[in-house]
Amino acid sequence: MARITIKHKREKPIINQHPWIFSGAIAGYEGTMQPGDIVSIRAHDGQFLAQGYWNPDSQIEARLLSWDKDPIDEMWWRNMIQRAINARANQTNSAYRLINAENDYLPGLIVDRYGDWLVMQSLTLGIEKRKHMIADILSVLLDIQGIYERSDVDVREKEGLSLHTGIIWGKEPPEEIIIQENGYKIAVDVYNGHKTGFYLDQAGNRALIGQMAQGKRILNLFSYTGGFGVHALANGADYVVNVDASMEVLETAEANLTHNNLPLDRAEHIQADVFAYLREVDDLFDIVILDPPKFAHSKQQLESAARGYKDINLNAFNVVKPGGYLMTYSCSGALSADLFQKIVFGALADSGRQAQIIQHLSAGEDHPVALTFPEGEYLKGLLLRVY
Ligand code: SAH
Repeated sequence: MARITIKHKREKPIINQHPWIFSGAIAGYEGTMQPGDIVSIRAHDGQFLAQGYWNPDSQIEARLLSWDKDPIDEMWWRNMIQRAINARANQTNSAYRLINAENDYLPGLIVDRYGDWLVMQSLTLGIEKRKHMIADILSVLLDIQGIYERSDVDVREKEGLSLHTGIIWGKEPPEEIIIQENGYKIAVDVYNGHKTGFYLDQAGNRALIGQMAQGKRILNLFSYTGGFGVHALANGADYVVNVDASMEVLETAEANLTHNNLPLDRAEHIQADVFAYLREVDDLFDIVILDPPKFAHSKQQLESAARGYKDINLNAFNVVKPGGYLMTYSCSGALSADLFQKIVFGALADSGRQAQIIQHLSAGEDHPVALTFPEGEYLKGLLLRVY
């Protein structure tokens, strides 16, 4: 097998099982290797460290798969995929993340389950070259009807890959899949929906809103298809206002109320830019949910992202009734939980309000974070009581 030799004193993160090797850590190459091939990673003195797949077109030149010498063959992939499936055996929802890339020690591979259908994202060349094998393994291990590929994600360009969508195995999914989440029905469009169709990472937090909702007036900002609102109304919320920039997702949000036999006259759907909406609204709410899209796509965008988060959090504090709650999130991987909390603190200081942290929030257990891979902890939230 071809080898990559790591620079002296750059082995530590590899030994500690961080999955990425940047080109700057590489001293040299031995043998012939094609982009996407599995290579052996060696220390400067030739000692074996790990195996991973190689892509010379990516700044992350190798992503590590294993730290022993056993061959990475089809059986290896099958065992790792089975391990990820086993870890979701206690899922009660019909939709959840089945494989969480680096965090399931399968770099570059996302697989989400929507009932009888899987949606797969191949984010790297190493996965791209093996995606049909992976789809075949999934079709053998799971009782499913089809696997649809949503590899229409910009990060692929950093790997020299173009964007791609299409059936990869089995039948075409229907235009609308009705999933069951915490007992409620939600319509998902795996062809055009965001990410693989739905924000599965918020499932547990939507259940939490359900627990808090009885008799409350709730403002659901960046609502997408209204998952938080469905949970709130189904649990006796007085009134829900869903706000999103996209009319299309708001139409689905309204349809989702009907799917759950919820009263349409207890909900309002407002198409607006949340930044502008928060400046105009002169109403107070018992609970405000603030779940914006990713503002920071890289470390370079942190400063402008921080301004954005501060702006909406400041204005969100101002529409919470005294004694009410703000549930606020960031899904920017480049922004640490610590920095996010500092930004929210800055917003609070400017608002002149008082707030207490009731809970630190994150994605559910179908989105594990590998302890060796802090970059995997992208979703962080705070549940605050506001006075
Ligand atoms: N809370 C949702 C997920 C939110 S995703 C859930 O539980 O499913 C972020 C949403 O913000 C998307 O639906 C997107 O259309 C919307 N969005 C992005 N920028 C916006 C803006 N400036 N104003 C309003 N909505 C925006």
